[in-house]
Amino acid sequence: MNLILLGPPGAGKGTQAKLMLQKYALPQISTGDILREAIRLGTELGKRVEPLLANGKLVPDDLVIQIIEERLKRDDATQGFVLDGFPRTLPQAEALEAQLKRAGKKIDRVVSLEVDEAAIVGRMGGRRSCPKDGSVFHLVNSPPKVTGKCDKCGADLVQRPDDVPEKVQNRLRIYAQDTAPLKDFYEKRNLLSRIDGMGNAEQVFGAISDALGKK
Ligand code: ADP
Repeated sequence: MNLILLGPPGAGKGTQAKLMLQKYALPQISTGDILREAIRLGTELGKRVEPLLANGKLVPDDLVIQIIEERLKRDDATQGFVLDGFPRTLPQAEALEAQLKRAGKKIDRVVSLEVDEAAIVGRMGGRRSCPKDGSVFHLVNSPPKVTGKCDKCGADLVQRPDDVPEKVQNRLRIYAQDTAPLKDFYEKRNLLSRIDGMGNAEQVFGAISDALGKK
């Protein structure tokens, strides 16, 4: 099954993608994670995109399209995948469609997590991540075992530079302008499932599983 998770920043795409990995063994492919890893490693790509991510701006389409093109060719993606954070613009959606077509594949379903944007700003204020291994926590919803420390590697947790309130507002604006139109794009193709994203992670996962006919 080839899936896309759509939704504004902070809607819980990453959390749901991780549940899908655990329960359906579908690999999570997150352009945000791939870009942050490049920044951590200090690669050419990382240096180029760092100021964009820090300010909540989109990375140019050609760069992310190329990243996904290569990532989808890897072995673990041949039996299905969950895209999280891609596509984010119409040109990205069109490029993905063309790429999959060339490979004789297609998207099976697009899950749109519908959330209240006011609530998101609050949610994102509590997000903390591990600068070493990328693990994600939330001060209230999923706190680490030891305050301020990563459960997996013990590193000091940090707030993502783009999770501060004014950057979150900016990302929400970009979502409304560039990404929300993708719902129409996929609705026209009869692929869109709108899911209420305001419950807890298990409730949302249950609703997604129902929509996918997985239960
Ligand atoms: P969120 O969904 O919480 O906004 P992500 O981790 O998906 O966070 O993305 C973080 C940042 O990475 C974005 O604000 C943007 O700068 C960049 N990015 C990720 N995916 C894309 C994409 N498909 N196109 C352009 N920029 C992207």
